[in-house]
Amino acid sequence: MTNLQEITDIIGKVNKKDEELLTKAYKFAERAHEGQKRMSGEPYFNHAFEVTKILAKLRMDVKALAAGFMHDILEDTKIPEEEIRKEFGNDILFLIKGVTKLGTLKYRGHERHVESLRKFFIAMANDLRVVIMKFADRLHNLRTLEYIREDKRKRIAIESIEVYAPLANRLGMGKLKGEIEDAAFPYAYPKEYALVEEMIKEKKESYKKNLEEVHAALKKELKKNKIHVVEIDYRIKHKYSLYKKLQKYDMDIEKIFDIVALRVVVDTVEECYRVLGIVHSIWNPLPGRIKDYIAIPKPNGYRSLHTTIFTGLGRVAEIQIKTQEMHAQSAYGIAAHFAYKEKGSKKFEDEKNKFKWIEELKELHYTPGKPQNFIEHLKTDFFNDRIFVFTPQGDVIDLPDGSSPLDFAYSIHSDIGDHTSGANVNGKMVPIFSKLKNGDIVDIATKKDAHPSSKWLKFIKTTIAKKHIKSYLDKNSLLSKLKSFGRS
Ligand code: MN
Repeated sequence: MTNLQEITDIIGKVNKKDEELLTKAYKFAERAHEGQKRMSGEPYFNHAFEVTKILAKLRMDVKALAAGFMHDILEDTKIPEEEIRKEFGNDILFLIKGVTKLGTLKYRGHERHVESLRKFFIAMANDLRVVIMKFADRLHNLRTLEYIREDKRKRIAIESIEVYAPLANRLGMGKLKGEIEDAAFPYAYPKEYALVEEMIKEKKESYKKNLEEVHAALKKELKKNKIHVVEIDYRIKHKYSLYKKLQKYDMDIEKIFDIVALRVVVDTVEECYRVLGIVHSIWNPLPGRIKDYIAIPKPNGYRSLHTTIFTGLGRVAEIQIKTQEMHAQSAYGIAAHFAYKEKGSKKFEDEKNKFKWIEELKELHYTPGKPQNFIEHLKTDFFNDRIFVFTPQGDVIDLPDGSSPLDFAYSIHSDIGDHTSGANVNGKMVPIFSKLKNGDIVDIATKKDAHPSSKWLKFIKTTIAKKHIKSYLDKNSLLSKLKSFGRS
């Protein structure tokens, strides 16, 4: 059974207007999906509800939650866009359309194109809220993957690990990344999953005991030192990230030191360093494993103090010390901005360092201290000058806006470019100089006797194509000169 109360309980205080919007969206979606069932036999709306619950836990804004309830309406029901626009307005319609559009993305296992595919994903989304909604949608689909056909299951699972999880990580959403990977792992790589399961099964009890002992001792010591602890908990490493690490260390589990970790959350940065001192006064740290990610954050913005300690009997544990804000950041990443938006207390001065990846793509001209601006600039229009098109095999090719099938041909291979005789876009023959659009599927026809002419240079957009055409023309004019020289 689904119940709106469950969602409002997660987000806490809601004003009347927001509650009305959520109720309306909830009912609208429930009615729209009436009679439809998931593969599991559950009512279809349960999926939309669970996705919205994930979004609520990520503290997304109310519009995104309303759109969460309705995210599959355009794809799976007969309700027209106009009706959603009329009832809920353009913003919400925009979010729903964005999620629907991202549904067309398919990763077919071509390793070298995976980076373009990630960019394509962001570009198609237009708004980072859409990206986060798609993550939530994917996470719930992964959790119900057992009901899906086996070949499809594997494709979805691998796509989640190759495309979705790395994106979540770059957006600083560490918790979501771990959840996506762990939900996908058993379906993507069943044998490897079984192996990891087997490895930790034997140790689970000793890990737990170790953690409990350290937890109790540390708690006592912190109290003695009058440190206010906001939260202290422990975790066993996510299985997929453990597997990745095992690969790096000859599959030797004894070489991995952060399988168990304790997290201490305190109020201030100063207290973080005090806690580190206290930890080292109780247990000896492993040399080389004390990391100050507060002074020097990780590239994706992660901040925390880490140390690994000997806990006796040859056992070790990692301790992570952070403030509440750092904790929220590392769990929710970019999503945390939506949450802090209303409070207006967030510091944005160092945002530039936190999302370097986006920064590299295009400068974000935000105004420090004005979160709204920052959020606005998170809209992904930094891809406006790029288009993403597909080969018939589903590989993504990333080109500058205004590119033609000829640019496409050269970006695949100079030999294909040099012998292009025609182009087929989305099943129709088109001139080789026509303009390509995002999402086009392009098939190039080649002929042995086809070759570049100087006219091509006028229409070409990419430098790589220009270079190849010029070199062909140079070579050939030289050849013809030589030939005519030989004849005379
Ligand atoms: Mn869905």
